[in-house]
Amino acid sequence: MSWLWTTEDMIAAMAGRPFGTLPEGITGISIDSRSIAPGEAFFAIKGDRVDGHDYASMAMANGAALLVVSEARLPAMGRLTVPMIVVEDVLAALGRLGLASRERSRARIIAVTGSVGKTTTKEMLRHVLSPSGKVHASVASFNNHWGVPLTLARMPGDTDYGVFEVGMNHPGEIRPLVAMIRPDVAVITTIAPAHLGNFKSIKEIAAAKAEIFEGLEPGGHVVLNRDNDQFNFLDRTAQSLGIEHIHSFGQHAKAEFRLAEFNGSDENSTLWLTIGGETLEVAIGAPGRHIAENALAALGVVRIVGADMEKAIDALATLKPEKGRGKRHRLSIGNGSFTLIDESYNANPASMRAAIALLAASEPTGRGRRIAVLGDMLEMGEYAQKVHSDLAVPLLAAGIEHVWLAGAEMAALKESLPESVHVEYRENTSELTDYVLDSVVAGDVFMVKSSLGIGFGKIVAALLDKF
Ligand code: ATP
Ligand code: MG
Repeated sequence: MSWLWTTEDMIAAMAGRPFGTLPEGITGISIDSRSIAPGEAFFAIKGDRVDGHDYASMAMANGAALLVVSEARLPAMGRLTVPMIVVEDVLAALGRLGLASRERSRARIIAVTGSVGKTTTKEMLRHVLSPSGKVHASVASFNNHWGVPLTLARMPGDTDYGVFEVGMNHPGEIRPLVAMIRPDVAVITTIAPAHLGNFKSIKEIAAAKAEIFEGLEPGGHVVLNRDNDQFNFLDRTAQSLGIEHIHSFGQHAKAEFRLAEFNGSDENSTLWLTIGGETLEVAIGAPGRHIAENALAALGVVRIVGADMEKAIDALATLKPEKGRGKRHRLSIGNGSFTLIDESYNANPASMRAAIALLAASEPTGRGRRIAVLGDMLEMGEYAQKVHSDLAVPLLAAGIEHVWLAGAEMAALKESLPESVHVEYRENTSELTDYVLDSVVAGDVFMVKSSLGIGFGKIVAALLDKF
């Protein structure tokens, strides 16, 4: 049996106290009692809403091999015959196990941050590095104070490439995360207004992302977006930290991983990448210029870590857009069909623009229309009104004639659109859902997008359910 961790190593790493009859080792780590697999350890983490300790018995019933619980909760844990490792603080213990994992690993470690495109780039890296070795990557957007230590602690000892998503909502959050990850390569996808309510300016956002440089391993590499306004600032910051290997990607003539040409259809795209004096043709199984930009970064990393470029490029051809991030559905209506572009995962001004471009590149058929179904972008603070009304610019430039809106902030966009655009506005998501379900006709192309907290996933689910 190959264990993820032997219990002996776990106890040593976490400075824990064993209780009951412990197994020799564990096959995995879970913090969710509903999805735990038999043989895994359940870490009873206290989150904002729930305390894992309340779910410990469910975790055992679902096959947990052992529990990691906090000393303070011990009296309430019932019989001590359940195999347990008792620690002072469960999240801190997970962090210590994460550090031990990093210590034992011989993998090349890649950390990805940025205002948008982290998950997309991380999944792309998983995809393109897999033909070259064993890849371990973050699940979903597990990129915060518990997601990063969990991903680290879960990394098998024989991993060749570790890919970590690193996120933040406030200054200072990336620093401790990257100190655990100690990446060999740090990628910043792009800097754009996100969580603006928590920052004074874009420069402050860039400075917070630049914390990722501080945890870089000696001799490590940085990969930056040369087309981004903040490139010079990030480049200078990296230089001031003595980082020697600073790479860039983008359309810019001086980009090391350069987009020489881009050709997109509504289902996929082709790009020509100039790298090391060579131009390579790259077919991607997903549409959108933003996806191509993420691909440049991913292929840059392939070059830096010396993985197989040809196999990486082959892998991109089979990449498909993910649920909530550009996934397309063709749904039947009457004798015809319509297209749904599911962008419901999340939204900020940059990703809204990318998604509007996706819609613009899609052709309606017959009497069909291009329809942007948009909901509020959250956490924009004092900029909220401006960033919402400013969406009129890309919508008009893309020639989108139908804009259906819901939410308090989207009222500002409604006001800024000219009369030539057919605008429907509803106060809440459920009223807009009803309107969408009643109004779709054959040939339409819908793009549905809002911040995660607004929940436009419900509109997508309702369409998938009905058609
Ligand atoms: P989160 O902070 O929520 O975890 P993320 O940075 O992981 O977000 P993704 O999930 O990869 O971002 O992408 C979110 C949305 O951003 C996608 O639906 C897509 O619309 C858009 N997007 C992805 N990559 C880019 C990019 N390079 N430029 C602009 N928009 C992008
Ligand atoms: Mg993400």
